[in-house]
Amino acid sequence: MFEVVTLGTSASAPSIQRNVTASVVIYRQYRFLVDCGEGTQRQILRSGIGFRRLDRVLLTHGHLDHILGLAGLISTFSRWEASEGIDIYGSRRALGRVRDLIFKVVLRGASSNLRITFNEVKPGVILSDSSFELRAFPVEHKGRDSIGYIFQKRPRRPFLEEKAAALGVPFGPERRQLVQEEAITLKDGRVITPDDVLGPMIPGTKLVYVGDTDRVDNLVEFVQDADALIIEATYLTGDEELSKHFGHITAMQAAKLAKVAGVGRLILNHISRRYQGPEVAAEAQAIFPNAVVARDLDRFEIRNKAA
Ligand SMILES: [Zn+2]
Ligand SMILES: [Zn+2]
Repeated sequence: MFEVVTLGTSASAPSIQRNVTASVVIYRQYRFLVDCGEGTQRQILRSGIGFRRLDRVLLTHGHLDHILGLAGLISTFSRWEASEGIDIYGSRRALGRVRDLIFKVVLRGASSNLRITFNEVKPGVILSDSSFELRAFPVEHKGRDSIGYIFQKRPRRPFLEEKAAALGVPFGPERRQLVQEEAITLKDGRVITPDDVLGPMIPGTKLVYVGDTDRVDNLVEFVQDADALIIEATYLTGDEELSKHFGHITAMQAAKLAKVAGVGRLILNHISRRYQGPEVAAEAQAIFPNAVVARDLDRFEIRNKAA
């Protein structure tokens, strides 16, 4: 399961109800801050998730409504004695702007105990361990250097408790061996193979995060079969001219993408201040019923739709 907390859900500038874009994705020991608009520090405090282990920042692109909060966050972190360091991931262009913000504006040559690493992201695997993989893919938004992120658990075969019990497989290391696809021999000499107690392979839970984008047709292959898709819905149909001009999509476009790609759940953010939210949700739900417009400080649990 992935947990998502939407810290800010407004496009370009904050409104009374919504702060600018930032979200946190939590999986086991990992906590990824995805984008960091102005005022994100306070949203983190309000959310109750705290700053501990919030040490990885994934940037979708370098527009100011997605990065300005890093100035305040890094200023705060750099004053803490026990700060653990921060790893920032993004495109070359986004990182260039963030470097200027941090080194020319925030630190200005002052020494800091904070370890900051800049990791230029190219499409492909960014991080992986035995149970999880984080991948990046290209997104077009006023140019070609925006990035989307795929959080995906590895596929696995479920352990069939009832079958194991019927075969007399004891609790303990034998079960672990079977899960690791190794056969075991019981005390009475019977050999139990993984196929006896493991079900068919099910794909790992998949969460896709697309930031700002000006088209969706090129995203289908990356979004395909995701359990949840988080994507902007800056405008409504009727305001397509504005949407095209500013390099964004409408709620209808987001919903069509979710439908075509067979997504489980659609979570919309980056909402223009001209809307309240319910009208954006209604437009999306007419095409893709399992759609919501995220509010600031909402929490979502992303589970495997196939499990
Ligand atoms: Zn934006
Ligand atoms: Zn943007």
